[in-house]
Amino acid sequence: MNQKPNQRLKGQTCIVTGGSSGIGLAIAKSIGMEGANVVINYYSDKESAEKVAKEIEGMSECGSAIIHQTDVSKEKQVVGMFKKAIKKFGTVDILINNAGIQMDAPFHEMTLDQWQRVIDINLTGQFLCAREAIKEFKKRGMRPKVSNALGKIIHISSVHEVIPWAGHVNYAAAKGAIVMLMQSLAQEYGREKIRVNSIAPGAIRTPINEDVWGSKKGMKKLKKLIPYNRIGEPADIGSVAAWLASDESDYITGTSIFVDGGMTCYPGFTENG
Ligand code: NAD
Repeated sequence: MNQKPNQRLKGQTCIVTGGSSGIGLAIAKSIGMEGANVVINYYSDKESAEKVAKEIEGMSECGSAIIHQTDVSKEKQVVGMFKKAIKKFGTVDILINNAGIQMDAPFHEMTLDQWQRVIDINLTGQFLCAREAIKEFKKRGMRPKVSNALGKIIHISSVHEVIPWAGHVNYAAAKGAIVMLMQSLAQEYGREKIRVNSIAPGAIRTPINEDVWGSKKGMKKLKKLIPYNRIGEPADIGSVAAWLASDESDYITGTSIFVDGGMTCYPGFTENG
């Protein structure tokens, strides 16, 4: 990562869900490099979460980092994660709602379990974490020396919040719903100075889509969907998340920022005018 340490989030604490791999891992590092304390939530890969925490703690001018295992779809566990973060760091200022899965199937063969698990983690998990974050922001009150906002929530959605996705209906339905979750929260809590936004990544090189970018054929097909002609890297999302959590983006709320190399520009029409 070629990002330089900065102090835009000094004195703040951030929870990153699904922070032990891929996009969440890159965001945890970017946020840590901005001087924030980071709670790295993980589901199963403790070793990787520990490695990220050590890396953050090892960088000069970075905040502290702890790890915490939670299934974000389980209410009690999410409440426990916030309790631990508040006990350790005093409060929570930033939530990165990142954890997500895919369980793909042709729609007519999709089981209720495949539908439910994706909705539980990708949508209900974001609801549960956002609710605990907002409770804490309101309870703590403003800290004008730390941030202009009472708190910041960043949902990691997807280009599939607007691009329909055959064979992935559960995933697209969850990501589409995040738009209304995010915008309704921004509307409900804007007056209280809580900023709520989404980052909508395009194709990013992470474990979730290794079956696509892992082969030459898959990569060639993928690039046809990306006007900028390269796959995204997790750090592309990390740098945007750090900026979106900082006061530099203080007037942005209720918006999805597409970080997709132009995937949402309908590249199929490039030579079809
Ligand atoms: P990833 O598989 O590396 O990350 C997903 C993370 O979520 C993993 O760390 C996993 O352990 C965690 N997780 C899964 N179930 C969980 C649960 N019940 N509780 C807590 N954590 C859980 O893949 P990624 O690409 O880094 O995905 C991160 C987010 O980015 C997801 O929401 C995904 O939908 C979104 N996204 C990814 C891409 C892409 O191209 N990689 C594109 C658009 C959106």
